[in-house]
Amino acid sequence: MAVKIVHLYPDEMNLYGDCGNIICLKKRLEARNFKVEVIGVGIGDRIPNFDIMFIGGGQDREMKLICKDIRRKSEELTYYINSGKTLLAICGGYQILGEYYKTLNSQTIELTGALPFFTECAKQRMIGNIVFESPFGKTVGFENHGGKTYLAKELQPLGKVITGFGNNGEDKTEGILYKNTFGTYAHGPVLPKNPMLADEIIKRALCVGELQNIDDELEQKCHNSLVSRFT
Ligand code: GLN
Repeated sequence: MAVKIVHLYPDEMNLYGDCGNIICLKKRLEARNFKVEVIGVGIGDRIPNFDIMFIGGGQDREMKLICKDIRRKSEELTYYINSGKTLLAICGGYQILGEYYKTLNSQTIELTGALPFFTECAKQRMIGNIVFESPFGKTVGFENHGGKTYLAKELQPLGKVITGFGNNGEDKTEGILYKNTFGTYAHGPVLPKNPMLADEIIKRALCVGELQNIDDELEQKCHNSLVSRFT
């Protein structure tokens, strides 16, 4: 039985090589002898059953393109999130899990409302390398967003900012971790740069506590060198 990875809006939400996260998950699963099936789900498509869902980043223009469709999908997306399905959402893909996104010219884009948070665009874009402390270790990536995200107090961030802006450049929070839903502003792509995060997502998708070790010495060296360079 293949591990199913759903790539939501592959044509619209896929900035700065974010699809590299899918390649990373696929390679790390195949290295452990799992078969992997990647299914693109676009505007108007139904969401099939999956083991991991991935949503990449998107410019404001693309977020407007998909907002009607994501609202149509919000009930099943909310169901999947609350039932503990594994999901990774990057930047704009993360933002669409919230209630709304207010653009620079104060246009409010209503979103899924799957989780209690909102995003409002600031004049000063938040661009640069980011390092944050997560429950899975120091995590490194690259951020480029105008949106400032504010989490409801009951939500747990994915991490605490060490270098960079994170959710809003104010409260030192970065991303979100709710059940098995991971949201982050870290492009990079984030998973190849952080093998421990990639394996955490795989473990949760497979509902296992441990994974067979693989030869990822190069990835670990890359991760460590980036963390030391940016902290
Ligand atoms: N358009 C959103 C923002 O500027 C998301 C950008 C992104 O996905 N990199 O905040």
